[in-house]
Amino acid sequence: MARQNYQVTPPTKDPNDVYPKVPGIDYNDFKLSSERMPEEQRSRAFGQLYQYESARKDNFLGYQSNQKLDFKDDLSLYLNYHINNIGDPFVSGNHTMNTKFVERAVLDYFAALWNAQWPHEYTPELPAKDWKNSYWGYIVSMGCTEGNIYGLWNARDYLSGKFILEDPYAEEQARLASQDGRPAAVEPRLLYYQAKAPEDAPDRYTPIAFYSQDTHYSIIKAIRVLSITAFNEAGSGKFCCPLTYPADYPPGYSLHYLDENGWPLEVPSDNYGSIYVPALKKLVEAFAKRGYPVIVNFNYGTTFKGAYDNVAYAVSELVPVLQQYGLYEREVEYNPEHKKSDIRTGFWFHVDGALGAAYMPFLEMAEKSGNFPVFDFRIKELQSIAMSGHKWIGAPWPCGIYMTKVKYQLLPPDNPMYIGSPDSTFAGSRNGFSALLLWDYFSKYSYQDLINKVLYTEKLAQYALDRLKELEQYLEKDLWVEYSPRSLAVRFKQANASITFKYSLSGEVLYMNNEKRAYSHIFMMESVTPKLIDNFIADLKAPDAFPDQQSTGVPYRQEIITPDAKRGIFIPLNSRGFK
Ligand SMILES: *Cc1c(COP(=O)(O)O)cnc(C)c1O
Repeated sequence: MARQNYQVTPPTKDPNDVYPKVPGIDYNDFKLSSERMPEEQRSRAFGQLYQYESARKDNFLGYQSNQKLDFKDDLSLYLNYHINNIGDPFVSGNHTMNTKFVERAVLDYFAALWNAQWPHEYTPELPAKDWKNSYWGYIVSMGCTEGNIYGLWNARDYLSGKFILEDPYAEEQARLASQDGRPAAVEPRLLYYQAKAPEDAPDRYTPIAFYSQDTHYSIIKAIRVLSITAFNEAGSGKFCCPLTYPADYPPGYSLHYLDENGWPLEVPSDNYGSIYVPALKKLVEAFAKRGYPVIVNFNYGTTFKGAYDNVAYAVSELVPVLQQYGLYEREVEYNPEHKKSDIRTGFWFHVDGALGAAYMPFLEMAEKSGNFPVFDFRIKELQSIAMSGHKWIGAPWPCGIYMTKVKYQLLPPDNPMYIGSPDSTFAGSRNGFSALLLWDYFSKYSYQDLINKVLYTEKLAQYALDRLKELEQYLEKDLWVEYSPRSLAVRFKQANASITFKYSLSGEVLYMNNEKRAYSHIFMMESVTPKLIDNFIADLKAPDAFPDQQSTGVPYRQEIITPDAKRGIFIPLNSRGFK
C-alpha cells in the first residue's frame, strides 16, 4: 500500500541523541509517527513505563508528594468521561457533565477544617453581614501555584482599588449596533473601575508584597506575572532600610544577603525557615506609614525545610501597625460623582499552605496544645489560603484548593438581578476529576484516621532524624543534619548522584560560614516506611556516598545591570521547589 505523503517536517537530528537519557527507557520505543505503532512496540513501551514508574515510586523520598494512592478501584471508570467543572463551582452552568456537586462537598469539608463560615452563600438580596462572611473557593486545575496566583491576583485588584461594575449601556449599545442588520449580543457586561489615588497620597493604591527568603518560587512567579511590586524593589535606593544590621535580623543572618543599599532582598527567615516577625513588622511599618497597602505571603510548610510561619502571631503583631496608619480599614471610592464607596482592608494576608494546610489541622487536633502555629480563618484578618492536593494527600496529578471569603472577592455591587459571575476562576475549563479524587479520599477517612496518618509521618521524621544522627556517629562526619519543629522534612549533606536519582532527592545550595553547601532533604509522606529509610541509610554508608564539596568563598557580586536600570524583583533561579 502506498504511504500517503504528508506535509510534516523531518527532524534536524535524532531526538534520541539530543534528549536526556533515562535509565531503563529506550526512547526509540516511544517515538510517534504517522503510522499506528505496532502492538509489539506499544507493549514494550508500556513495559518500560511500568518498570520505570514502579521503581521510582518504591524508592520515592525526596519530595513532599505522597505516593500511596488508592483511587483505581473507585475512579478508573471515570477516565472515560470528560468531566469539566468550567466556571464557578457554585453555579451549575450549562456544561452539565461536571462534578461541581462533589467539588462543593470537598470545599465545605475544607471550609470547616480551616474554620471558615460555610456553606458558601451569595445572596445579595439578604443583609450582607450574613452571607459576605461565608467562604468562596474552588478546586484548582494546577497545583498550589494556581491558588497562589489567584490569591495574589485578587489581592492586587482589591488593594489597588479596582471594582467590577455592571456596564449600564451594554444593552442599549447592542440595540444600536443591531441597526445595520447584524445581530448584536446583549450580554451583561462588566467594566473595571480603578479608584484614583489623591494627589497627596499617590501610593494609596500601590500594593507592596512581602514574603520570606524561604518562599516558594511560585509566589515570586505570581508577583512577576501580576506586576506586583516587591518591597525591595519599592524601597531599596529610595529610602533608608528600616532594619538595622544586625540588631533587627535573626541570629546568624548574613550581611551578604543585603543589597548595595543595605536592604534585604526578601524578608529574613530564622534558621528553621519561619518568617522572622520582628523584621517583617518593621518592613511593613516602613511602607504602611508611607501610605502603601500591603500584601503579606505566609508559608505554611516551606518547600525545603518544611517550616511553618506563625501566622496568628505575625498577624497579631501587624494589626496595630495597620491600625496606626489607617490601613486596617479604609474607604475606597468607586463612583466619586455619586460619592459611592466601599470599606476595604488596606492589607491582604495570603497563606501558601501547599503542604501544611492539608495536615496541620489534624496535628493540631492531636496535640491539643495552646502553642500551635495557627494559620486558618480563625485569624479574622486572613484573606486567602492555597493548598496542593497532590502533596500530603497524594493524587495522580497536580491539584489543589484556593479559599477566601465572599467579602474579599471582586464582585459587582450588590444587585439582586445579578446572579454571580460564572467566570470567577483562573482556569477556564477545570479538572472535574480532581474533585472526585479529593472526595474519594476524604469520604474514606475519619478525622481520627487522618490524625493517625499525620502522627505516623511526624514520628517517621523523628525516626529519620535519629538514623541520620547515628550515621554521623558511625561515619564520624558532620552531615549537617537539620530539622525544623513539626516539619516532615529532614535535611543533610547532599548524597552522590546515583543515590540522588535512586531516591528522587531534591537539593538546595546554601552558604554557611562563607562555605557553599549543597543539601538534600527527604520528606516523610504516608508512602514512606521505616524500611525505606533503613535502605536509604544503608546506601549512605557507602564510602562514596557523600562526595567532597569544594569550599568556595562567596562570589564577588558583579554589576550586571546597567546603573540606571530599574531594579526588578529577586528571582530564585533553580531552587526552592521542584528542581
Ligand atoms: C509545592 C509548593 C508550591 C507550588 O505548588 P504546586 O502544587 O507545585 O503548584 C507552592 N508553595 C509551596 C510552599 C510548595 O511547597
